[in-house]
Formats: sequence, structure tokens, C-alpha cells
Amino acid sequence: MTTTPAQARIDLAAIRHNVGILRERAGGTPLMGAVKADAYGHGLVPTSEALVAAGVSRLGTAYLREGLALRAAGITVPVLSWILTPGEPFDEALRQDVELSASDVRLLEEIAAAARATGITAKVHLEADTGMSRGGSPLAAWPALVAKAVELQAEGAVEVVGLWSHFASADIPGDPSIRMQLDQFEIALKQAEQAGAAGSHVMRHIANSAAIMTLPEARYDLVRPGIAMYGLSPIPEMGDFGLRQVMTLTARIALAKRVPENSGVSYGLLYVTDRETTLGLVPLGYADGILRHATGRVEVLAGGRRRAIAGRVCMDQFMIDVGDDPLAAGDEVILFGPGKDGESTLQEWADNLGTITHEIVTRLGARVPRVYEGA
Ligand SMILES: *Cc1c(COP(=O)(O)O)cnc(C)c1O
Repeated sequence: MTTTPAQARIDLAAIRHNVGILRERAGGTPLMGAVKADAYGHGLVPTSEALVAAGVSRLGTAYLREGLALRAAGITVPVLSWILTPGEPFDEALRQDVELSASDVRLLEEIAAAARATGITAKVHLEADTGMSRGGSPLAAWPALVAKAVELQAEGAVEVVGLWSHFASADIPGDPSIRMQLDQFEIALKQAEQAGAAGSHVMRHIANSAAIMTLPEARYDLVRPGIAMYGLSPIPEMGDFGLRQVMTLTARIALAKRVPENSGVSYGLLYVTDRETTLGLVPLGYADGILRHATGRVEVLAGGRRRAIAGRVCMDQFMIDVGDDPLAAGDEVILFGPGKDGESTLQEWADNLGTITHEIVTRLGARVPRVYEGA
């Protein structure tokens, strides 16, 4: 077996467990797994394969190139890509049977042009902006978008297969915006129905992980879990929902050494040893997603005990101070994991860094190998 300075272990059994919890919470509504950003840093293809095997029936990506990468890997379940810019290879999307989202008439026409050129009907999901003011058609422009889609559908260039939107604050249970967005979504659906763009085969979808956990009325025909599949709570204030963290990040000590009292450590010499002590070099840095801002804020497990990061996080490395405890090159350090052995969890990292777990897992760098376990 080859060894590497660091690795992210991906627990496929935990993925299966989490999908089971989500299927239960969704009450039989099919799941579209969000696998954008390299499946939230867990590795696009192996993670997607595990999700599909566990019962996720569709996959969703932000970029088209992510959707095409799923196809190139031989994944055959329906795929939707939802952040599209002019001039992208929509013809290739159609040939590879990737469904496309449209929020405005301009993009819909460009997709229709690709359909005419290839002779393949484009499957489109129309996105309504129900109050988040991010993607999606404002409701004022929605009737025109729907009318254009119906016209292109009559021509055979597109087939409307989905009508969808996204919540701004589903992770804040009881937030008044949730009810308002559901009301707006209902209006958008009614208009699409009246225009003839909401046949019985059309999937309506709005729920992310937080909504799946708390809003049964938001299930509609399809739900779109992301963070919860990776075992991370969509609403940390409400606990872990029985989810199991999928990713464990470990590294192996590259150098262990005794240094005297009053040794300044790492850039800026911000950390100064208060006695003779043993320092360990952990070969992960901000290039790998260990934020420079994590200096002094997170703890890693070494020799069975938690240790603070000593001094600045560098591009490829940081130091820990283990005092007089034994430490040798090759020893394993756990940066974060499910917490079973006393290591920090991703939720602790997020809390200590003032962010959400999504940001930490998606920033894990490409040079850290993902190692799959529990197949
Ligand atoms: C990322 C994403 C999701 C999943 O969101 P989570 O909060 O991670 O569950 C669902 N839908 C869309 C459109 C997304 O971009």
C-alpha cells in the first residue's frame, strides 16, 4: 500500500446510512443528490456511485461540466445541471442526456438552438425566484418564460420536465420567508399549469436538506439533499438528526523534534515555546483547505490527545506542540472525523472558524487523496 502525507477517508457505509435517514424523512419522495463541487469535496464519481447504490435516484450539479463528468464516468441516472452561462456546450449536454435549468428566455432560446442543431429534445427545468433573489426567474418575468417554454415544447425543441426553486432560510425553522417562498412557489406552479407547462410528468422541487428535515409540505415530487448526505447537520442547532459524518481527514507527522524553551514557531514566530518541548510537523496547509485563519482556532488529535495548531498555518504545513508526549515521524494525526476517538468533528471546526461545514469540506484541496472505505 502506498502511503501519502495526508488522506481524506470517505466512509461509504455512512453515506448509505445517511441516505437511509433522508429517504425516511422524505417519506417516499425521490431524492436528487446534490454532488456539485466534487460532491462537497468527497470525490464526484465514487461518491455519486455510492449515493445511487444507496437509493438516490437523480443527481444534480451546479456546472454543466460536472454533469458531463458524471456521464463520462458511466453514471446513467438522470442528471440536472443548474448554473449555466452563454456559449456552454449545450449540444454536448443534450447528446449526454444532461437536463438543463433555465431562468430566462435568452438561455432557453440558446438551449432550443442546440436542440435544433442536434435533433435532440432538451429536457429543461424552469427555475422560479420565489424570494431569494439569486437564480431563477423573477415572478414578474415568469409568465413570459413559461410561455416561451410552451412554444418551444410545441415545436419539439424542449420538454419541460421540472419546475423548481430554492429556499433562502430553510435552515432557520419558522423563519417567515419560508412560508412566503412556498406561497410564491404555489403561484408560479399555478401559472405554469394554466399555461400548459405543468403536466403530470413534470417534477416540482424546492427542498434542500434543511427543508427535508423540517418541512414535509415542501417535498412536492422530488427533494434535493446535499449536506445531509455527507453526514453533516443542515440545522446544527437542532442536533445531528442521526446522521453520520462521512469524511475523516488524517495526516502523518513528517518531522518530530525537540526544541528549546523560547523557540518561535512558523511564520511571524507567533507561537513561542514556554519550555523545552516536542514539535510535530503536520503536512497539510491552506493549499489543502486548512484555512490560515485556523491558526490557534482548531484542535487536531495526536497521540490520543487534542493539540492546538502552534503558530501560523502555512501553504503546505503547520506545527503542533505535544510537550513531552511521545511523537514520531509517521504517526497519524486526525484533523477531523466523526468524533468517535475524541477527535474534533467538522461541526466543531465550522463553529470555531465562524463558518458552516459546507465551506470546510468543499475547500479540501485536490492533492489530498480521497480513500474510500466500507464499500
Ligand atoms: C447545493 C444545493 C442543494 C443542496 O443543499 P444542502 O443545503 O446542502 O442540502 C439543493 N439545491 C440546490 C439548487 C443547490 O444548489
